[in-house]
Amino acid sequence: MKIHEYQAKEMFAGYNISVPPGEVAFTTQEALDVARKLETYPVVLKAQIHAGGRGKGGGVNLAYSESEVQSLADAMLGMNLVTPQTGAQGRKVNKILVEKAMDIKEELYLAVMQDRTTAKTVIMASRAGGVDIEKIAEETPEKIIKVWIDPLLGIQPYHFRQIAFALDLPAETRKVSGFIINRIYDLYVAYDCSLVEINPLILSKEDQLFCMDAKINFDENGLYRHKEILSYFDPQEEDPLEIEASKYGLNYIRLDGNVGNMVNGAGLAMATMDLIKKAGASPANFLDVGGGASKEMVENGFRIILSDGKVECVLINIFGGILRCDVLAEGVVQAARKIGLSVPVVVRMEGTNVQKGRQILRDSGLDLINVKDLQEAAQRVVQLVD
Ligand code: ADP
Ligand code: MG
Repeated sequence: MKIHEYQAKEMFAGYNISVPPGEVAFTTQEALDVARKLETYPVVLKAQIHAGGRGKGGGVNLAYSESEVQSLADAMLGMNLVTPQTGAQGRKVNKILVEKAMDIKEELYLAVMQDRTTAKTVIMASRAGGVDIEKIAEETPEKIIKVWIDPLLGIQPYHFRQIAFALDLPAETRKVSGFIINRIYDLYVAYDCSLVEINPLILSKEDQLFCMDAKINFDENGLYRHKEILSYFDPQEEDPLEIEASKYGLNYIRLDGNVGNMVNGAGLAMATMDLIKKAGASPANFLDVGGGASKEMVENGFRIILSDGKVECVLINIFGGILRCDVLAEGVVQAARKIGLSVPVVVRMEGTNVQKGRQILRDSGLDLINVKDLQEAAQRVVQLVD
């Protein structure tokens, strides 16, 4: 689960990690109130969306006066912000963080995350922090240092010394950096995070460190242990179809292509998407109805797939085990009758009660394309969207 920068900074502040003074605003009036409270200019107005690259997309702006706060807040609230990370469709800005503009001497990078290859926690740090970190990672990866931490032993003082020296921080700042790294690591562990990233962590003109950006992702499997985090969930940032799907216990993720697909089992879903790709088309979603799906789940899944305007064709690929083919067929027929078939639907199923299932599809009188072989089904789909 992702949260906003202002929420992450709230958590940092609770951990005594320095962040620039500031507050979130949902309206222009609130933005003006925050600016007044800060009693300083310039201030920075930062769009709060669950995507980075805001600086490059026009989502981080300096205001030098009250009237500039007003005009910028007016322009930013409600705007559609496109950044290198939002995709071309962009994200609507519903809130902005108004904070003190800091005097920056240097922009550093600091992140804690999982390294699956070593099964350890890795801290990444760089002196070349800021909006071009992706380019640095690609072109001069040696500028990013990595320190691995055994999760069973936890972080040790030598770890943050390694980082502080590699960052070549001024002697006085080194101690503070150790404190910050330690606290960030503690927060990362305590909340079952999958990522805590600070880019930039700035060194101010007075050689003080501040977290100027803050990103925290939580491992959803650990959320039940942190009920207080759930209040940070922002449905406005989620795909409405994904939220709808989760209400029915469906595992649905929207993708960019135009072939909707409904599959049972995550492994089969991945394999089906691979085959669609290999045949020359592109999946519009991942949808795993689960092993023991009911007729209603199939119906809801089908409805959700069809509500995505990009879908030009649907491929249903089911291996009937616990979910029997006749139950699937009934679900599909029921859904198709209710919603109406706006696009061609190819059904490939095998397994328990397959003959019965095929019979149900045939008897329905609906225009469902029954295919026995998966490869053939994928090829059929490609012809249909071409
Ligand atoms: P993003 O990573 O989404 O682009 P950041 O919060 O990192 O957003 O902001 C982008 C850049 O804007 C920073 O690298 C920094 O140069 C500048 N910036 C952000 N917040 C402040 C601030 N409070 N004071 C001064 N400059 C800021
Ligand atoms: Mg940033």
